[in-house]
Amino acid sequence: MARIVKKFGGTSVGDIDRIRNVASRVAKAVADGHEIVVVVSAMSGTTNQLVEYCRAAAPLHDAREYDTVVAAGEQITVGLLSICLQEMGVPARSFLGWQVPIRTNDVHGAARIEEIDTTALDACLRGGRVAVVAGFQGIADDGRITTLGRGGSDTSAVALAAALKAERCDIYTDVDGVYTTDPRIVPRARKLDKITYEEMLEMASLGAKVLQTRSVALAMKHGVRTQVLSSFEDKPGTLVVGEDEIVEQEVVSGIAYSRAEAKVTVVGLEDRPGQVSHLFSPLADANINVDMIVQSASEDGTSTDVTFTVPEDDLLRTVKLLEGKKAALNYRDLVYNGNVVKVSVVGVGMRSHAGVASKMFDTLADKGINIQVISTSEIKVSVIIDAEYTELAVRALHSAYGLDAPVKA
Ligand code: ADP
Ligand code: ASP
Ligand code: MG
Repeated sequence: MARIVKKFGGTSVGDIDRIRNVASRVAKAVADGHEIVVVVSAMSGTTNQLVEYCRAAAPLHDAREYDTVVAAGEQITVGLLSICLQEMGVPARSFLGWQVPIRTNDVHGAARIEEIDTTALDACLRGGRVAVVAGFQGIADDGRITTLGRGGSDTSAVALAAALKAERCDIYTDVDGVYTTDPRIVPRARKLDKITYEEMLEMASLGAKVLQTRSVALAMKHGVRTQVLSSFEDKPGTLVVGEDEIVEQEVVSGIAYSRAEAKVTVVGLEDRPGQVSHLFSPLADANINVDMIVQSASEDGTSTDVTFTVPEDDLLRTVKLLEGKKAALNYRDLVYNGNVVKVSVVGVGMRSHAGVASKMFDTLADKGINIQVISTSEIKVSVIIDAEYTELAVRALHSAYGLDAPVKA
């Protein structure tokens, strides 16, 4: 008998028939003698709709109330899945985040899990029942509902698997594993049998939304055996593993992209010590995550332009904050653009191979795609380009690094 956490994403619980399909899978695992904790997302589209409602109510709104609204989708699916399980004769009950409780910090909209009390879940499992837990949500010390950031149910699942000392965490989704790039935009993407925690972490943080970044970080930290597999087909998925389990390592293992980026340029900033610090500290105080940064000085050395990227969702807040500081910072102009995409090439093999970045620049140049910002780390190269060229760039890079699946005869 094993204790297993199974997480089902939005498409997998998109309507009642699909919820029944999830219930059958869970019932089978219970019949095999396993103790099962299920984590579910909201029905696909629901969370987007809830986010839209908040924006329509007020473009800049109270993050605590945002969390109250957007956490609602998961309340529906935990209840419905529990009903479907009971219909099949499988004893089950639902848990909202606060009922577990899953304790988080108070960074609303992007909260981090701090502690999970497993007493109630242990009792539920010992009583022979399936525990159906709402993903994406938790409770802060002041008793308010929090959410873990978009895609956060993956993190709920991995955190629960770690806290409950589960044998593994199965993430069921609408693709049958992790691919060399998003299979929805590159039909010739290849499924990976295994991927290292490190590469998965990088792919996720660079936009491959198949797993939320934080879930991979937690899996790596606690050594949670995590696999990504299809809710709709019975076939092996992708295992996320330590580097020692990979026999042959490719130089580049995948291409990721993220449309959720925005580019901001502060033009004609007075060039003196402390300016960059004055520019970025209000953003840090507002929990706005600045990613890529480029600074260029004017020829006469009196002023400088600073270009940086922030999550597109934070663009409005960023612009408001910086406009409020125009006099103090003494800059000439603020230019911003949400219509950009970050495209990244990822691979641990880059540590020992040169030429990865130049191949990326050559490939984009061949397609006439202009690179606006570049950043590199040990195992990735990222560029910001016009969003219009997303598919073209990702497909061209996927071919250039030899990742395309062979054409079937
Ligand atoms: P869920 O609702 O199950 O959490 P998501 O939509 O969050 O599902 O994540 C699954 C999606 O991730 C896939 O439909 C696919 O389009 C996208 N995706 C992006 N990059 C990759 C990748 N490298 N491998 C697999 N899927 C990817
Ligand atoms: N329902 C939430 C979202 O859409 C959490 C998740 O799907 O993981 O972001
Ligand atoms: Mg997801």
